[in-house]
Amino acid sequence: MEGNEKADSLARIGSSTDFVGPEPFCGVSTSCLKAELRIWESSMIDANWRAISTLRQSKQFITPCKRITRSLLSLNKVDLSTLTGLLTGHCPSKYHLKKIGKLTDDTCRFCNIEVETSEHLLCQCSALIQRRLRIFGKGVLMPNEIWSTELKKVKNFIKEVIPSWGEMHSHGAAIAHTHSDGTN
Ligand SMILES: [Zn+2]
Repeated sequence: MEGNEKADSLARIGSSTDFVGPEPFCGVSTSCLKAELRIWESSMIDANWRAISTLRQSKQFITPCKRITRSLLSLNKVDLSTLTGLLTGHCPSKYHLKKIGKLTDDTCRFCNIEVETSEHLLCQCSALIQRRLRIFGKGVLMPNEIWSTELKKVKNFIKEVIPSWGEMHSHGAAIAHTHSDGTN
């Protein structure tokens, strides 16, 4: 094409001509530098996240990702608060409520066997397998699968399992008196 040929010809002339302008001169384009900086930024975020020795529960679920961060930030306040709580463990799970002294028993209200952490509820609880199958397409999940799945599904799952969770979490109230029949 005529335009491409002209661009090639100009590029050849440019590369074979001595630079004229203020020194020092760097023959790298701004977009190239920006791309390199973005790669460096991502690698530093990953390295810092891995280097943190605390945040055990958060690190089970969360891997730094701009796309997921953007979709989280597009949620309304209540949904964002519910999901952040779930993924960091700072939520009205019985494990957390026991940890902060609001409950004495942290046994899962659904299976009555395991400790009720957010990971247990979202990924493993045997009493919630049918619900997981219907919403996520799998009965048991790995925590990293929760992070990469549609946030809407996670939100729907927790709303279905514990309807008052988002509301109670956003008000900082305990769910100690929330009961469920424990069925699927
Ligand atoms: Zn359970």
